[in-house]
This record gives sequence, C-alpha cells and structure tokens, in this order.
Amino acid sequence: MGANQRLRKRTVWLLIIILAFGFGAVIARLAYLQLIKGEELQRMAVEQQLTDTKVNAKRGTIYDSKGKILAQSASVWRVVLAPAYFQTDEQREYVASRLSEILSLDKAKLLEDTKENTYYVSVKRQIESEEKDKILELQSELSEKYQLANVVSLLDDYKRYYPYSELASSVIGFTGDDGQGLSGIEFQYDSNLTGTPGRIVSAQNAINTDMPFGYNQNIGAEDGHSIVLTIDETVQSIVEKYMTQGIIDNNVYNRGVCIAMDVNTGEILAMASVNGYDLNDPFTLSAEEKDKIKDITDEYLMKNGYVEDPSTTDKKELEKIRETAKSEAESIALSKMWRNKAISDTYYPGSVFKMITLSMALQEKVVNKDSRFFCSGAFNLYEKTIHCHDIAGHGSQTYQESLWHSCNPAFIQIGQLVGEEKFWDYYQAFGFSEKTGIDLPGESDDIFFSEDGSLGPVDLAVASFGQNFSITPIQMITACSAVANGGYLVQPHVVKQILDSEGNVVSTISTDTKRQVISNEVSKEMCGILEENAISGSGSNGYVAGYRIAGKTGTSEKLNDSNGDGVDDYIASYCGFAPADEPKIAMLVFYDTPLSGNYYGSAVSAPVFANIMAEVLPYLEIDAQYKDDEIENVDVTAGAYTGMNVSDASAQVEADGFNVMIKGEGDTVLAQNPVTGSTIPKGGTIVLYTDENSANDKVTVPNFIGYSVSDCNYIAASYGVNVSVTGTVSASGAAAKTQSIAEGKEVSPGTVITVTFSTGGIND
Ligand SMILES: [Zn+2]
Repeated sequence: MGANQRLRKRTVWLLIIILAFGFGAVIARLAYLQLIKGEELQRMAVEQQLTDTKVNAKRGTIYDSKGKILAQSASVWRVVLAPAYFQTDEQREYVASRLSEILSLDKAKLLEDTKENTYYVSVKRQIESEEKDKILELQSELSEKYQLANVVSLLDDYKRYYPYSELASSVIGFTGDDGQGLSGIEFQYDSNLTGTPGRIVSAQNAINTDMPFGYNQNIGAEDGHSIVLTIDETVQSIVEKYMTQGIIDNNVYNRGVCIAMDVNTGEILAMASVNGYDLNDPFTLSAEEKDKIKDITDEYLMKNGYVEDPSTTDKKELEKIRETAKSEAESIALSKMWRNKAISDTYYPGSVFKMITLSMALQEKVVNKDSRFFCSGAFNLYEKTIHCHDIAGHGSQTYQESLWHSCNPAFIQIGQLVGEEKFWDYYQAFGFSEKTGIDLPGESDDIFFSEDGSLGPVDLAVASFGQNFSITPIQMITACSAVANGGYLVQPHVVKQILDSEGNVVSTISTDTKRQVISNEVSKEMCGILEENAISGSGSNGYVAGYRIAGKTGTSEKLNDSNGDGVDDYIASYCGFAPADEPKIAMLVFYDTPLSGNYYGSAVSAPVFANIMAEVLPYLEIDAQYKDDEIENVDVTAGAYTGMNVSDASAQVEADGFNVMIKGEGDTVLAQNPVTGSTIPKGGTIVLYTDENSANDKVTVPNFIGYSVSDCNYIAASYGVNVSVTGTVSASGAAAKTQSIAEGKEVSPGTVITVTFSTGGIND
C-alpha cells in the first residue's frame, strides 16, 4: 500500500469519525483545504494529520536462580512537544525557556523545535520522577496561562538498570538506547524480554485552528517476559571476588575465566570473565584501557611517520588520522571488554585434558593395573623430542601415577594405546568437535588438527596431553562434568525459566542429556584418581580442607605474544569438581597470560579454585568432613565473655580451648575480640577489654608468608592476632602463600587474618 493510498484510507476513516460526531464546520474546512490547497497540504498532512507513536513495552526482568533481580526496567518518561499548537512567538519563547530550565537542554535548539509544524517532537528521553513532576507543573501552568494543555506531554518510557553493576556482566549483557538487547542474555532472549510495543494513534487538524478536533487511540503495550537464570548471585559474587584478586596477585594481562556448573543438570551456577564492566555504563573503558589506547594511537601515528616532522605535517589532517586511529582502538577495546571469554575464546586445554585421555584409555580397557609407563624426562617421537616438566624423569609409573605426576611422556604412550581413530571418536563424543549449544551468543568452534579427525602420530602424541588443538572453556567444563557425573554429556545452560509479566511460568528448561560417553565405573574410577591428585598429586593446590575435591592442573603455551614482552603467552588453568564421591559442582579456573613470573596452573589457578570452593561448598550445604590433621585448623565460634568478671572470663576462655589476652586495668570484661559468634581458629587468642582506654590498643600484623602452619600459629600467638588457615595444608612442603591483611598494618588485638597455604606447585 503506497503512502497516498494509505493517506486516502485514513482520510475516509477520519471523515466517518467526524461525521459521526457532527463536526460540520470542520468538514467544510477540511473540504476547503483538501480541494483548494490539496497538494501542498497533502504533503503536510502525512506528517501531521495522523501521528503514530510507538510506546515501549516494559522489558522483562532478569533474575538469578534465587529470585534476586539482576536486570530491571524502571519507569521513566519521555517528554514530547506538539509545536503545531503554538499560536504566538511569545508562547514558543516561553515554553522553550521553561523546558530548557527544567530539562537542562539547550534553549536555542528547543526554540527551533517549537517552530516545527508537527504534533510530535521528542524533546528528552528517560527523565526520572523529579523532572517529570516539574513537567506536570508546567503543563497545568501552560493550560492556565495560554490554554495550551497538550503542547507538552509525557509518554511512558523505560530505563534498564542493573543493581549489581559489574556482576556477571559478560553473561547478562546490556541494551541499546531503544531498549534492544545488544549482548549476553539481553541479546539472546531479546524477543522474550521485549514484549509488544503499544501505539498512540492521534488524528489532528492540519493547521492551527481555534477549535482543534482530536482523535486518540491507545493500544496498550504488552510487557515482556522475565528470565530466571541458573546463575546464583552468591556463587557468582564469590567467584568474581577471588578471580579478581587472582588477576591482581598474578598480574594477569588478558583477563580470567571461571565457570561453575552443576555436573548433573548442566546448569551454570556462575560464569565470569574478569575483569568485567559496569552494565549501567557499558561504553566507558577503564582508565587503564584509555591509557593503553593513547599509547596505541601514538604508536600508530609514529609508525606511519605522522609526528616525525611537526613543521610540515598538516595539523588538521593529523588530528583526523589520530581520531580515526583512536576510535578504532576504542572499538577493539570495547569488544574485548564485552567478550564472554568463557564461550568465545579457544585455548589449548593442556594437562587438564589428561583427565579425558585417561578416561578414553580406561573405557577402551587399553590400560590396566599391570600397565607401566616409563618417563626418562623426555620422549623421542620421530624427529621430535617432547620433554616432561620433570627433566629428571618420573621413571616407571602406573596410569594413576602418570596422572598424579602430570607426566607428558606417559600420556603420549597412553594416547598411542588409545589410537588415532578412537581418540577422534571420543573427542567427538565428549563434545569437543561441536558447539555446546549454550544459550548465549558468540560461542566459538573448536580448532582441531583436521576436519575429518585424521591424526598423524605426532598430532596424537601432543593431543594426548592437551596441546595443539583449541577448545572453549565451556567445552572443557562440560566434558569434565561428564567425567564426574557417571559419563553423561549434558547440555550447559544459563536460563532456568521464562516467566510472563504476572510471574507465571511460561517455560522451564530441563536437563538435556546428549549421550553417555564413558561408563559409570570408569567415571567412578576417574573421580578417585582425580581426588587423590587433589590431595597429594599435581593438583594439591586446589585442595580444600574438609572437602573431597577432585582436580587437575593445566598450563599451555599460546604461541603468540600479546603483551609484546618477547615471551609466548601462557594459559594457567585448574579444572575439577566436588565432592569426589558424589560430584555436584564442576569448576574451571583459567587465567590468560599471567605475568608475575609463575604462569603454571598449579601456582596461579589452583589456589583460586580452592578459595572459591572453600566458600561455595558450604553455601551449597555440602558438609565438610575433616581429616585428623585438618581438625586442628578448623575454625570454631567465639563464645560470649562480655559482662563477666575478668577472672571468671579468663577461666572460661581457656576452658573453651582458646588463649586469653587481657587488655586494661578494670574488673569487668567490657568488650572482646573476636566478637561473640564470629569464627576464630581453634586454639586462637581471644582478647578481653576491661576499660575504655584499652579498646584503642593496636598490634602490628606480622608476615606469615613462607611459613608452615605451626610456625604461623606460633607467630600469630606472639603478636596477639589469629590466623585462619585455608588451602593445602596436608601436602608436603605446604607454606603460607597469601595473607588477607598485609604485613605492617595496625589492627585490634585478636583480629583474624586468613592465610592461604599451598605447595610450591609442580610446573604444570
Ligand atoms: Zn614424566
């Protein structure tokens, strides 16, 4: 239907309405305008007689799995001007001036707007209630003063708001100015979230008469559906806290990834690409990135000879080139910042993949209790020598020991026993050759040696220990879940339910099991081997006291040098699950290019994995079961001693198994540290304050790093502070790696300092 035809149809329709209401004079006027001034007015009429204004529907809410709001649309308003109603320049001048005042807009521009001969000029979007109230006042003022009730009006509008700002930013995503989803869930589920926009159709006279007739029809907007994620805000927050600390501790250049997945259902409990970005302000780069962009721009200009000779360079031209280079660098930085590395990046999985290779070998029964795998420190394959991280060699090993040692030469032999064809079959079965199909945009494909899976013997050798083929972190965690859960490859997903605007469930996403890859027996055996690995093998830095952790380290070379330090980039990872006897949650921690000197998964990622698990497992109500040597370091709860007389209180503290330290000269305990009910290490120190002055006493935090658990306890007692022990304490050579309050800080006596222990780690 052409524009003219449409217009005619509307005119006829309008006439019917007019006749029905008996506006005879208006018809005469209209007839005159149509007949006499026809053509000229027809053009104007298209713009003016009918306005069809889109009214945005309220976009659905995004909830976490426990119903916490992660993204929400708040009601705001759009200010609209209908300048065709103006009769005098004085009115125009007055309205422009008042709007400029209320909305902080440029008056000259507003004055231009008031001269338009239409009924619809959008003046300002997304105003909040304070400005809205002032606009309402202006409306009644204009109505009284000039009888201009409809010249300024308000339309419903919405503004997207993210209460947790940075949390899960790469998963949730953000929307554009018109509320359309641009990334993450906001993009993937845009059609569900958007709803159906409403319309306001208005028919008005084409010129300003004393008696305008009007026709208004509102077609209500239909609110969008809400999305309930599988992401748990608490787990996500714990993950992001430790992942961010890991970025700082290890001077990580290319961000980090953590995925926590329910091994049985495929529900993603947390997915983080850190550092993230502020969803409420997604187009602003960090100060650090802005500096980098300045450097990149300067470098670009220099390289192209633009700043060599300032006297002859055309300044304007130079500025233009600088701007182009800058905006290009900015878009690259923004897309890097928004990137969900957990699904969009591919990497060599490295030794983490050994859990897959060994699963294949066990399922194919090509290894058994009599199999031995010899490591001399290197393995010669045709012209190529492949080294073990232990150059002295691991000697003769069982298949279990081969994994605990994370021995490459042994895994080359295990891979050879599996064979090229079977290796490819299992690679496909574990889901590495296809996208997982997770419900998020931007998932990448794997990069394997060949399309059809044909492998040369050298390809097979390096693939056995996870090198030279690339997969995504989401593929790795999905395959690890299959190893853990009895052998089932489940579909990972981040959306749990879709709700209508009343909160009724529209659809529920259930567990989708693609296939069984390995048997229950092989899965059970792998759980045992990986648990032992986390207790005393190469994965021991991922161990959490009291919990049955199973895990594997990985370190892989990226064969590119993104930061330009002349050394190839490394990925440090740790992948595991818990509890090993009845796996519930699998987790992958992955840092891209740590630059602090140690880039091994055992040193960089395993302690972060342990810290996260130590908080997440109790939250998931998985009970701790401590071993004898761990019991000593278990935190307990401080009793109530305040209000007691000093000697009774001291006796009670000691009877409760703590050391006592008395501060002040009084007879009664006025305060205590740690306070009643807070956690304190078993055998720790409780400080009792007996007068006002003593409350200001401070002690200096000593250094714990490098010391054993018993040394740390001794140092803590002599300084009057408490040490809460986390990380690996059972493994030989475990020592304090980090402390939660830095050496030299002044704290109240009795303060609890968390000290994380780990072994030096192996080079993997
Ligand atoms: Zn070895």
